[in-house]
Order: sequence, then structure tokens, then C-alpha cells
Amino acid sequence: MAIAHNLGFPRIGPKREMKKAVEAYWKGELDQQGLMQTGQSLRAQNWALQRDADLDLIPVGDFSWYDHVLDMTALLGCVPPRFGELQDGEVDIDTYFRMARGRAPRGADARACEMTKWFDTNYHYITPEVHENQAFHLASNKLFNEVAEAQQLGHKVKPVIVGPLTWLWLAKAKGGDFDKLTLLDALIPLYGQILSQLQRQGVEWVQIDEPLLVMDLPHAWRQAFESAYHRLPVRELKLLLTTYFGTLQDNIGLIAGLPLAGVHVDAVRAPRDVHILIDHLSNQKVISIGIIDGRNIWRSDLDACLNVLEDAQTYLGKRLWVAPSCSLLHTPVDLEQERKLDPELKSWLAFARQKLKEVAILKRGLNDGRDAIADSLRMEREAIKARRQSDRIHKEAVAKRVAGITPEMVQRKRSYAERIKIQRERLGLPPFPTTTIGSFPQTAEIRAMRRDFKAGKLTPKAYEDKIKAEIVNVVRRQEEYGLDVLVHGEPERNDMVEYFGELLAGFAFTQNGWVQSYGSRCVKPPIIYGDVSRPEPMTVAWIRYAQSLTNKPLKAMLTGPVTILQWSFVRDDQPREQTCTQIALALRDEVADLERTGINIIQIDEPAFREGLPLRRQDWDAYLKWAVRCFRLASSGVADETQIHTHMCYAEFNDIIAAISQLDADVITIETSRSDMELLDAFVDFEYPNEIGPGVYDIHSPNVPSTDEMIELMKKAAARVPPDRLWVNPDCGLKTRGWEEVDAALKNMVLAARRLRQSTVGHAA
Ligand code: GLN
Ligand code: ZN
Repeated sequence: MAIAHNLGFPRIGPKREMKKAVEAYWKGELDQQGLMQTGQSLRAQNWALQRDADLDLIPVGDFSWYDHVLDMTALLGCVPPRFGELQDGEVDIDTYFRMARGRAPRGADARACEMTKWFDTNYHYITPEVHENQAFHLASNKLFNEVAEAQQLGHKVKPVIVGPLTWLWLAKAKGGDFDKLTLLDALIPLYGQILSQLQRQGVEWVQIDEPLLVMDLPHAWRQAFESAYHRLPVRELKLLLTTYFGTLQDNIGLIAGLPLAGVHVDAVRAPRDVHILIDHLSNQKVISIGIIDGRNIWRSDLDACLNVLEDAQTYLGKRLWVAPSCSLLHTPVDLEQERKLDPELKSWLAFARQKLKEVAILKRGLNDGRDAIADSLRMEREAIKARRQSDRIHKEAVAKRVAGITPEMVQRKRSYAERIKIQRERLGLPPFPTTTIGSFPQTAEIRAMRRDFKAGKLTPKAYEDKIKAEIVNVVRRQEEYGLDVLVHGEPERNDMVEYFGELLAGFAFTQNGWVQSYGSRCVKPPIIYGDVSRPEPMTVAWIRYAQSLTNKPLKAMLTGPVTILQWSFVRDDQPREQTCTQIALALRDEVADLERTGINIIQIDEPAFREGLPLRRQDWDAYLKWAVRCFRLASSGVADETQIHTHMCYAEFNDIIAAISQLDADVITIETSRSDMELLDAFVDFEYPNEIGPGVYDIHSPNVPSTDEMIELMKKAAARVPPDRLWVNPDCGLKTRGWEEVDAALKNMVLAARRLRQSTVGHAA
């Protein structure tokens, strides 16, 4: 009999109950007991739902108050000293929240741990910090308590933990450089204790997540897998090693030798791994096939899934397990909650709950034959056929345009060196020109105004007037600061992707399709379901209005094609590259319209450019090639006089610097202030030829930087980059900041630029 299981279920709750409870607790509106009760009832609900979906094993330990990596860190007692002594050696909930976000109802504020993206997802984990002589001890009972809790409710549980190598890989070495692998000697006994405890609790299977195995690993780390796993006291306990998000490739041989009872593969991302694993694993071991896509929201082609599974079953028999490809953390909770989605589109979708049903259907198909699931298969087939043929999806005109793309369309007419002369002459900007990244404070009033308009409480005319009034406000203030290149402030945009998605054809939006981004923060990614086109201009009216208010050049703001793609759920019926190309064409039209309306500077933001990078190096070039091409398709239609800016933030630029340069944007603004201009080094080493605005104002902090601090930063920049190619600007958009700080900071920034112009470094221009 095939077994059905799940790697993890969304913990936010169908109505974001987790978010609400946690935030109420932080504010002191909910006490600890109330918080714990919410957690208990959410877990009970999630477990029951998974049992009712006919899963044989239910994950426990996937529930988290903030982040599952932080849970593991707490379990291991790896708490940086700045959070103080642990009471009774235990990481209590307040210490936990202080590590996550710097503060909690009880305990002193302290600098929060860093946060980074979990592999290639938009989920952020809290980075563990380790020191050279890091000690570990069991410091949390959360996992063990939850196991007992689930058992008491009668569930057959499979505890989930982050594996030692993945945890250590993600950890940051603090206090000097040392080889993190030296910590394994201390770490492995702890994992041993955890496993022993679980065994004492009557657990049979433990899921040990090692997504690290889909990465290119240094030799030492591969060896460490061997030595570490051989030292785990597994005894009767069965370990299911789970990998996901990519192919195991050369790590398959490595896994084959480990003392495991089973291995999970992501058969959506790495279909070929299934057979290689079957060939490599001993015939005692379970293979769990992650066949239902845990990273997207489409209904599965169950026939195709069954073909794969039935074939595997002939080799594996009852050693075959069926599951989603990865934790369902990355999908929204329940499609049934969507009341406004178009029924046809809805019939093509599956969220976490629906995906578990698919897993269960596949299990039944395997165990009882296809006849037993004939009805489900027929319905699925019809939905898939309807989707394939729907004229909502395929637009002749879009296909034609894509087919008609010529090499000239991705190429500016003249080289940067020639363009910049024409642009400088036309714009007449001083050396060290000052500008911002686009958004200005989004006050409660602005958000209320957009909400009222959406709810029909504000007429289009009234809304337009209010937005215009805000644009006037933003333009006036920028003139007062003395900025050189102004922006309209983006008051009409709730979110830089959603705004464009709502105006483009081929996008749909959910009411409740929330996915955890970090901690209590959830996002609702748009769904790109069909060919993308632009029915009409999206930004032109606002930008034209803003330009009409000032004699200074106004910089228009667009979100780039790669970022729109990256922050949406995308079609699975064509390559990502194809979808991105369609978005790029739509943006190209917007760029042309902006230019036609008299705008001389257009910024195309690509903050997600770097995070689209595939996990394996061998796939990087292909991605970068089409990502660059899409950006250029969007941006290269303009005359040489028109200056194209781009913006990227919170990324390591080293890996992608060549591609950034190929974007051929006339100006790039980047985040650098926190790193003390170190992030600029990638550009310096590469001899990046175009203009750069290294951020001098950390917009994630409420602090107002002084003029001197900003001059210091710019001097560091000018020591690295010829000063005539430097711009002066904040790190990123200002939408989360308050007016008071922004007023003060930007005045200081303009003053910094003026002083720089007077000092010697400024004379190159
Ligand atoms: N133009 C956007 C803004 O200023 C850019 C945001 C971003 O880089 N994430 O808000
Ligand atoms: Zn940014």
C-alpha cells in the first residue's frame, strides 16, 4: 500500500489567525495564555484537516510562531549572548520573539537576528548565529509538546526538524572567520538527544529536512553529511530525509550511503531524480515522491502524476510514498475561501487544502486502481482540458508580438558612452545629482483613500483629486528639499507588483490567497494565468500630472518584468521566460507612452532580479540571459536622449554583476548604506561603466542620517567610482517612513550633495 503524507502545512491559518494573535500579543492586547490557545486550536484544525484528507502521516513541528529555522535554533539553545541568560535554560516565547524582531512584551530590546530568503522562495528565515566555540543544549520543549499534543488527539505523527547540515549552512559565523563544520561535533549529539526523545515518545518516523542537498556543495560539506549522519543514534527510529526545490544530482550517491529509512524528492522540479534514486537506494528504503507542486497554485494533471507513480510503484511496491513536492507553506491555505474568483479560473486552481486532496486521490489510485478514482480523474481532466483551450489564456495578438521580437528591440541605438553625453546635455544636472527611489510616505490617509476607492466609497473623480493632491504635496516638498530629479511618490500604488498586475490582462487576484513572507507578514501574490497584455496606459496620467507641476525633470517609476514575474504565482503551461517576455512587451509600451508624454527619465525597478537566480550554478547563465533580455525588451525602445534608470536592493551583487551591466541601464541605484559602501565593491571590481547611485540613507531605520554621515559614505563611494558617475539617493523607497524623518533626511542629503560639489571630488564632472 502506498502511503500519503505531507511535509508541512501553512501555519498562518485560513484567516491569518496566527498573524492576528501574534501581533495582538506583541501589542499587549493578548496574553500568553491566549496566544498559546490560538496556536493549539490552529494546530488541531490543521491536523484534523490533514487526517480528513486521508493522509497516513501528519507533520508536527511545522507550526511556528515566527519561523521554523528559528524554532530549530531555539531547540538547539543557540541564543546569541545579547539576548541575555536563559531562564531555566529555556528559550521562552519572549526570548524567541526578541531574537526574531528585537523586542517582545517581556525582556530588554536587543538587535534582532538577521533575516534572509529561504532558498529560492519568498519566505524569509531568521539566520542562526554561531560562534567558534558555540555550545548547544536542548532549550525548547515546543516540538516534544506538540508531538504529545497531536498524539493525544489520536494522530499518527511525523515530527519535522531542520537537518543539521542545512541548519549549519544557513547559520552565520560570528566573531571572526572559522570553519562552521567544526561545530558538528557539538551539534550532532544534540540531534541525537532530540531523536532519542522523540523515540521515547513513541514516534516511528522523523522527517529531517535537508534542502541543502539540492545545491552545489563543497567537498567538505558532502563529507560532513556522511560523518554527521553516521553518528546519529537512529536505532529503531526511521529517518525520512527530505529534499526539495531542485535536483539532487551528484548528491544522490552521497545520500545512498546514509543511514536513512527513506528519502523524499521534489519530482516537480526534478522529475528525473525519481529513477536515479530508485537505482541508487537499497531496496529497503522508502522513496517519497513529491509529485504535487508545493510552489504553485495550479491543479495537477493527475493522469500524468499517476503515470509517474505507477511506474515507480512497479519498482518500489509498498516503499512508495506520495506527497506534495515541498512544504505547503508556500501556497495559500484554502481555495474554498475565494468567493469572488471567476469560477472558470477557480476550477483550474488548488491551494494547500486542495493539494492534499490530490495527494489522497493519487494514493487511492495507486492502492485501489484507477477505476476507484475515475470520477476525480475525469473532473481533473476536464478542468485541465478547459484550461488548455480557454480563450482567456491564449491571445493571438500577444503570441504574434512575441514572435515578432527582433534583435534591434533589445538594443539601445547608441552605446552608453555616447548616450550619456546627449542625456547630460539635455538634463543639465549638477555633479552628484540627487534623487529618490520612488515612493514617499504612505500615510494612513493615503491607504484609507485607496481602500475607500476600491470599496466604492469614493467616486473615481474624488479619488483622482485626492491622489493629485498628494502628488502636489510630494512634488512641492521635493522642490523645497532642492532635489534634482523628482518623482511623483507612488501614492496610487498599494504594492509595486499588485498595482501593475491589476492593470494588465492575464492577471487575477485572490481575496484570501495569503502566503507567509516572514513572521506575521503575509503577501498575496497575483496569479498570472493568461497571456499578458496592457489594455491601456498604467502610469502615464499620474506621471504627466506630476511633471506638469515642476520644471525639474520628473522620473517615472515602473516595476520591471523580472520582479513582476518573481513576485507572482506564474503559469505552469509555458516557460517562465515566455511569461516574462510578455510582461516586458507590455512594459515596453508603457515606457514608449511615458516618453511620448515628455518624460525624460524612466526608472524600471528590479529588486527581485537577484532572487530569481536558480539554486544550481549551471542554471544561472540561462536565467540571466533571458532576464537581461526581458529587461532590455522593456527598456530599449526609447530614444538615446531618454535616460533609463533601474534599482536593485538587498542583494549581493557579485554573482550577477556582469548581467547587471548587460542591462545597459544608464543609471542604477542600489542599497549600500548599511554595508558601508562595501556592496559597491562588486561594481568597482567589475569596472561597471554606467552611472551609479549608491544609497546613503538606510530607509529601514527610523534614524535620520546626518549630512556628515552621508558625505562620509559618498566619499567612500567616490574613492571607488569616478565621481562624475555618482548619484546621491536613499537605499530604497520611502513608503514605510514618516514625513518628519523623510523631510529631515532628504534635506540633509541635498546638503550633502551640495557640499560634495564644492569639495574637490566633485570637480570631475
Ligand atoms: N520604486 C519602489 C519604491 O520606491 C521600489 C521599491 C523596491 O525596490 N522594493 O517603493
Ligand atoms: Zn529597493
